[in-house]
Amino acid sequence: MRVSGPGRPGGMAVLFAVLALALAALVPAAGAGELDRAGIARQFPPPLVVGEKDDALPVWPILKQQAGSYEVFAYAFESIDFAPIPGFGGTPPDLLIALAPDGNFRDVKVLSHREPVFLEGLGPEPLFAFVEQYAGLSARQPIRVGRPNARAAGASAQTTVDGIAMATASTRTINQSILASALAVARGKLGFGAANVGLSVEAKPDLFEPLGFDALLSRGWVRRLTVTRGEAARAFRGTGVEEGGEGAPGEAVVDLYVALLDVPSIGRNLLGAARHAALMHELGPGNHAVMVLSAGPADAAENPLGETFVLGSVPERVSVSQGGLVVNARDMAVERRGAGLGEGLPAGDWTILRIDSAAGFDPSAPWTLTDRIVRERGQILSEKIARDFSVETTLPGDLFARVAAQEGPDWTESWRARLPALAGIAGMLALLVPVLARRRGLVADARRFPAFRLAFLALTVGFVGYGAQAQLSIVTLMGLVRAVFRTHDFAFLLYDPPSLVLWAFVLASLVLWGRGTFCGWLCPFGAMQELVAWLARPLRIRQVAVPPRLDRPLRAVKYAVLAGLLAATAAGWPAADAMAEVEPFKTAITLSFLRSWPFVAYAVGLLALNLFVYKGFCRYLCPLGAGLALAGRLRVLDWIPRRAECGTPCQLCKVRCRYGAIAPDGRIDYPECFQCMECVTIIQDPGQCVPQVVARRHAKRIVPRPVPTR
Ligand code: SF4
Ligand code: SF4
Repeated sequence: MRVSGPGRPGGMAVLFAVLALALAALVPAAGAGELDRAGIARQFPPPLVVGEKDDALPVWPILKQQAGSYEVFAYAFESIDFAPIPGFGGTPPDLLIALAPDGNFRDVKVLSHREPVFLEGLGPEPLFAFVEQYAGLSARQPIRVGRPNARAAGASAQTTVDGIAMATASTRTINQSILASALAVARGKLGFGAANVGLSVEAKPDLFEPLGFDALLSRGWVRRLTVTRGEAARAFRGTGVEEGGEGAPGEAVVDLYVALLDVPSIGRNLLGAARHAALMHELGPGNHAVMVLSAGPADAAENPLGETFVLGSVPERVSVSQGGLVVNARDMAVERRGAGLGEGLPAGDWTILRIDSAAGFDPSAPWTLTDRIVRERGQILSEKIARDFSVETTLPGDLFARVAAQEGPDWTESWRARLPALAGIAGMLALLVPVLARRRGLVADARRFPAFRLAFLALTVGFVGYGAQAQLSIVTLMGLVRAVFRTHDFAFLLYDPPSLVLWAFVLASLVLWGRGTFCGWLCPFGAMQELVAWLARPLRIRQVAVPPRLDRPLRAVKYAVLAGLLAATAAGWPAADAMAEVEPFKTAITLSFLRSWPFVAYAVGLLALNLFVYKGFCRYLCPLGAGLALAGRLRVLDWIPRRAECGTPCQLCKVRCRYGAIAPDGRIDYPECFQCMECVTIIQDPGQCVPQVVARRHAKRIVPRPVPTR
């Protein structure tokens, strides 16, 4: 008699899926913006005006009337045109982004997405609120997705957006889509360099040359900005400001020395070795320090670092800029007592300004220090008039090295953030594999092994499911199908490290042992069902043994479900995502049952079913289980021990296998075996295994003999 499994109905379903996949390959890849000018205009209503679409890029200038003429308010574009990064559902989200000419986000809106967690479950509102956080942030900075309420907990509001619980992978993908597309537009339209994209430029720490102050000045490594009274007067000419004073026209009203201290040949020579080492330690990797020293004009009130300068603040008068954009630089309030500055420096007030790595500052490119002189015009209701005086610094490129930015691509942050979860999963796998592999060890202990299994399943629900959010799902397979046939981008897998690690293990275990290592031990919903099923005995509920004539066709249903889902996905049917709800994982695990009642009722109903039909969902409906069962047919080992007497005449294991995975002839049906190891415990137990019991009665010793299985 044949063991039931993916017989003809399942095989037909798979054939149907393959045909549908082949047809779907003819469907063009997804990923182009859909808004025309009228659509953009609806998003940016009057008084804003939509200009002509850019000739080279799919970007629309949004114009605003200002003093009789139009100026660019923002550049509007769809993220999918520049960074079609597939989301968790395998389809790229499409966001409408408005980027101001200074590189700040004016607005970000969601046009479309297929992120499962926002389609159903959490609903779209948290996603809308998530993208609203970008307004006002700068595309120059590597914006990260923090934990929920990360900003309130002290994370930088300039470089962090609050994440959403239960949607970590989706929000990181959306963040990456926003940043990558904004940077592409910023480079194309705003002249952004590539310095802040993936690489950071840092001074070579071991390159040092002893140089005196004059040598640094003559090389241009320390720059000087002087403004004489006469130059200032000329700058304010025609403004009504009376520039003059008591000094001579050639007398300096501003006398600043400017130097980038993170270059050792500059910083160490100016500060001395000990102070420079302390400064670098305080500065931290990737950040930059600019020293501004005022040699003290005759008039103390003119000194930008004099009486009005506040330690630890962003200076009012001096600023650092690069590429026409001001870089945030703040006084480090370093200790000014103790070791003095290096030899030869002029006396005067000084500050060391810290430039954070997030500013995208490239010290190997020209940068500018500006001093703003402000004068007042009029005595009553006086008006402030400002004039800027600047000095540019260009340092040799060989003083610097381009190193991978600390944060790396956005997905590396996911891996860093999920390290504890990864360590926990690795620990569980390290525990499980030897237990299963050593079939004469714990598995053979009829008393301790069930307790171990119960505890492990509880850990799978609590840690793998709710803690690490690593419930593998058919949605990932659907995402893979979309990637193969439509988007050709598999990067979405990298944003969910615990699941990816688990997938890697499952693939390896499929090839060696079959589907059961995951389904019997590591699937949180599967474990939850099993725990519910355990309650049947204390609740005195008698579970139903599904008769074979019903069991066989029912088992084929899961293969048909799998085929339908993959075919719908490959064909790009919008209903595919809704069809994936046949899997209750999102409701039960991802959203912890916090969902509308029909979904909760479905998930709870499937769990309750286990009180009557053991693991009914797994055996008859689960598309992921079906996929794993099919892939498990590649299994290379027949590793579950059998005896010659299994099946003929002994039927004990077959009767005790609650998954119906042992054929009447004693062979294991691996696609249906959940590796609960009950039959292994029996076969190793001389008190349970019938041939051994009989042999003992006859004082014989029987050695297990492997029997070929299908
Ligand atoms: S059949 Fe489905 S629900 Fe059951 S254990 Fe396997 S993957 Fe999980
Ligand atoms: S009893 Fe044996 S055959 Fe049945 S599921 Fe458990 S390990 Fe597999």
